[in-house]
Amino acid sequence: MEKIFLLLGTNLGNSKMNLDKALNEIKKCRITILRQSKIYKTKPWGYSDQPDFLNLGIEVSCHYTPVQLLDILKQIEKKMGRDKGPRWGPRLIDIDIIFYGKKIIKTERLTIPHPQFFNRPFALHIIAELAPDFIPPGSDLKMREITREIPDEEIQIYCD
Ligand code: AMP
Repeated sequence: MEKIFLLLGTNLGNSKMNLDKALNEIKKCRITILRQSKIYKTKPWGYSDQPDFLNLGIEVSCHYTPVQLLDILKQIEKKMGRDKGPRWGPRLIDIDIIFYGKKIIKTERLTIPHPQFFNRPFALHIIAELAPDFIPPGSDLKMREITREIPDEEIQIYCD
């Protein structure tokens, strides 16, 4: 089975509840959650004038292709009431596909590994928590080695 990693983020309404609801919706779609990270509190990216985010990562298994999985995740976002807001703006729920095994995909709709992943220390840290020995496609290093240099103050745990 391919190692599939998703990253969830929210900074509108009751963020903890939004994460719980999104995890429930994901399970209802025949996606098995194998591992779940701690919840992290992170500073907004892009527009700083918005609430902090809560983020968590999951490792999942499913029988969907990457595009089918993207469609399902976007449907969940829509069902939960996410509006099409500005890029980098506040959001009720965001669910990104970070890795789909060793696949490298670059199409108009879908880029895997996720295009912003390697720029975001918290995202690196979350995936390293889930899979320290995973070697991302295009890299020679394990996640634990990639994150070794991230200063502790970049990472704030909200709850275990
Ligand atoms: P977002 O604003 O994060 O919801 O992303 C908007 C769009 O990014 C989506 O509608 C997707 O078509 C596209 N996208 C490209 N690559 C990815 C990915 N790896 N995971 C999730 N969305 C992606």
